[in-house]
Amino acid sequence: MSKAQEIRDRGLALGLSSVGIIRPEAMAGYAGRVLERLARTPGAAMLNNFLGFSRTREAWPWAGAIVVATLDLTRYALPPGPARHFGKHYLLDSRRNPAAPEAKRIAAFTAFLEGLGLRVAHDEHPGVTAMRWAAMSAGLGRVRRNNFLYGPNGSFLAIAAWIIDQELELVGDVPQRPCPENCDRCAKACPTGALSAPFTMDLTQCVSLLTTSNSGRTHGARTRRDIGLWLYGCDACQDACPHNHGVWAHGREDFPGLAALAPSLEPLRILLMDYGEIASVLAPKFFYLRPEFLWRWKLNALNVLENLGQIPGRETLALLSRDESPQVREAVAGLLAA
Ligand code: SF4
Ligand code: SF4
Repeated sequence: MSKAQEIRDRGLALGLSSVGIIRPEAMAGYAGRVLERLARTPGAAMLNNFLGFSRTREAWPWAGAIVVATLDLTRYALPPGPARHFGKHYLLDSRRNPAAPEAKRIAAFTAFLEGLGLRVAHDEHPGVTAMRWAAMSAGLGRVRRNNFLYGPNGSFLAIAAWIIDQELELVGDVPQRPCPENCDRCAKACPTGALSAPFTMDLTQCVSLLTTSNSGRTHGARTRRDIGLWLYGCDACQDACPHNHGVWAHGREDFPGLAALAPSLEPLRILLMDYGEIASVLAPKFFYLRPEFLWRWKLNALNVLENLGQIPGRETLALLSRDESPQVREAVAGLLAA
């Protein structure tokens, strides 16, 4: 058995859903795709930050290969209720959560690679490469028109990657039918129009980014309406996709801590939390919002309640009008004046 096959087989034995290995050169085409998208959505200049992912050896001159793995998240049961306001990848995120089974699988696989005598670089966030492109190049799935990587069981996958110092290659062949020729369900489902065309998405308009934005900017009335019932993240373009239909039907496993956390995901509950509670209960799991932007949790919660037609009563608004965040005070003042 070759070393590449040994790595794949051990990964599968540890519970990874698929494992492939690519040469660093396989990432070169990624830069072209980023530049293409920048040309179509010039406002998304932040995409420039991703270009480095195509130049693996600039960061790791010793890189011989990239090992990439997927982990199927649909094994988990999703809690009912307020979790529907959250992107499912974030609910089931194993990054910064050593108790999560995926985190344990990834740690065990990292230790295995190191135990082979390989030099290894791994980083859970932001990662060592562009995950979806790497996984597609390794033959682990297909990137569909909504830009998500799909394995045999849909797009709700975690992807992890490791740089190793040995020149190996093992490209899989996950059979995947292409998107139906005329399908645009994902684009039609996108609430803000961020997904304006196949493989084109303006990050600056994506609800996933709008709800996790670390900027002082608050959203205008039109954007707030379009965000709809999403409080943190957005799955609209994945949920609408026929290749994802039914994939959660067999989810049985409990994700550690999620059931206990579920009551704290209620929008009104979040609105009434103090910032210490947000920092201790929500921020460790949903880590995209940095400590100085925790006020966005309350604005997001208020927005969901508004879009549900459940604006809190005047007593609650009066309490919030004394919130320590000027952004929250301003939003509440607008509601009180209406
Ligand atoms: S995640 Fe939501 S906002 Fe972003 S492209 Fe998909 S549907 Fe549109
Ligand atoms: S909704 Fe249709 S076009 Fe979009 S990713 Fe799914 S199959 Fe492809």
